[in-house]
Amino acid sequence: MAEAFLDHLKATLAAIEAEGLMKQERYIEGPQGARVQIGGRPMLNLCANNYLGLANDPRLVEAARAAMESHGYGMASVRFICGTQDLHRALEARIAAFLGMQDAILFAACFDANGGVFEPLLGEADAIVSDSLNHASIIDGIRLCKARRFRFQNNDMEDLERQLKAAREGGARFVLIATDGVFSMDGYFANLEEITRLAGAYDALTLVDDCHATGFVGPQGRGTPARAGVKVDILTGTFGKALGGALGGYVAGPQPVIDLLRQRARPYLFSNALPPAVVGAALAALDIVEAADDLRKQLTTNAGYWRNILETLGFHLLPGSHPIVPVMLGEAPKAQAFARALDKRGIMVSPFFYPVVPKGGARIRTQMNAALTREDLDFALEAFADAGRETGVL
Ligand SMILES: *Cc1c(COP(=O)(O)O)cnc(C)c1O
Repeated sequence: MAEAFLDHLKATLAAIEAEGLMKQERYIEGPQGARVQIGGRPMLNLCANNYLGLANDPRLVEAARAAMESHGYGMASVRFICGTQDLHRALEARIAAFLGMQDAILFAACFDANGGVFEPLLGEADAIVSDSLNHASIIDGIRLCKARRFRFQNNDMEDLERQLKAAREGGARFVLIATDGVFSMDGYFANLEEITRLAGAYDALTLVDDCHATGFVGPQGRGTPARAGVKVDILTGTFGKALGGALGGYVAGPQPVIDLLRQRARPYLFSNALPPAVVGAALAALDIVEAADDLRKQLTTNAGYWRNILETLGFHLLPGSHPIVPVMLGEAPKAQAFARALDKRGIMVSPFFYPVVPKGGARIRTQMNAALTREDLDFALEAFADAGRETGVL
């Protein structure tokens, strides 16, 4: 390969390093969970999306094993050629019923679901109105679609209305509002009551990405629309977070939407079918989650306890009730130093800084899960207090 090209890449990497933006991966030795082992050390994990603690649940491991034994290891095909098993259709029907939608279609990941959902449904004559803090996969999906793009400031309903007006004045045929159900950097809920009201007023469709909600937000964990008591047109989501934590994404919605995506969505047409073990375990995860009021209650209790004591200790949090609890630290070096001080004390957290969050908004995003015990949280709180004093955060 041309030396000049590799030198160019090396210079880019050096610039990332010099800005203090290099991401380092830690190697977990063993399964994901509330407690993990890294470098031979036990660590408390406060940064996984393992909201209900199901990532290594023995019932899911067993369901995966059973599905692999009955349906084999891999599909070696995309869905429409010879990659669809009875299990795939059962999971599509199951997730659709769980979400109160007519049907659903599986993707390899929600990144692919969002990447593939817009382009087949909307064209040049249409408009998409998108929240400024939407997930990268929604942004990419919208880029791949020919519809006109309008962006509204995060959760700013006046701006949403302005953009809807602009889309309508521009003569759009169909207008779609796209939003995350929960904004993952802040733990804020989208204002779905107002979004659906405005959608009604401007004859717009609604699409909600509920990755940080399905399974644990709303009655039976049916997500942010259920929590808000509203209906949306299209939902996208993942099996990679609360619903078992492996992988797999989906779009759920009206029958013609799902039917057309099956014909036209490119990540569906040109990428392999999910493996049976993942599909079988996802089916089991939905059975567990639907009945998991106890886990949801534990999660809510943990999140309330955690927020409360961090605030009492004097940490600056963003307000809210979601199990995402961001501890605000200002500049990137402070967030990194604080994360290191916590690491020394056996706590795994992840610092976030520009460009992932605004400049001056560096933070540690802690995430509660139902598998954390009161002892775990008290241990973590002591470490936060210690590390806070050591690094001058408190
Ligand atoms: C995690 C996440 C995704 C991506 O989901 P995968 O299934 O891991 O690809 C998409 N959207 C949002 C809002 C997410 O939080």
